[in-house]
Amino acid sequence: MNCLSCGNTSATRSGEHVFAQWLLDYLHALKTPITHFRYQADGTSTPHRDQIALDSLRLKRICEPCNNGWMSRLEDHTKAILVGLMERTLALDALADEQRRLLARWAGKTAIIESYAVGAEKPIDAQLLGYRRDGDQTSDVRRSRRSDLRPGQKRT
Ligand SMILES: [Zn+2]
Repeated sequence: MNCLSCGNTSATRSGEHVFAQWLLDYLHALKTPITHFRYQADGTSTPHRDQIALDSLRLKRICEPCNNGWMSRLEDHTKAILVGLMERTLALDALADEQRRLLARWAGKTAIIESYAVGAEKPIDAQLLGYRRDGDQTSDVRRSRRSDLRPGQKRT
């Protein structure tokens, strides 16, 4: 398969949830129905997919290692920040730099996955998903790329 995150791979295809189950469960929105509309130049809109429940909104263009690896870790690491912001025990302007980076990676990953899952006319460039993956400090991809650098050499 051609994984949006890592490219051509022999790994098994998976169904990446656009919105994590834990988040939909937290928001009591698992079965919230959604309908996608496509807006026309004349200002009208028409539904372009059948209505589905939010927990059924998945993208089958992500391989299992990416879904269960860096994407799962990103969800796990971002969960406490998102819950803290929603419960107002954390303030956006008081987040530490690492929390901001995690939140930005999560928001970017979610927006990219969503743009493909809804069949956007102009989905977000999938190369940007690779940058989200590369932000994973434990990613094998990042480690192997780091080893390509000579001592003292900086990544450009
Ligand atoms: Zn992948």
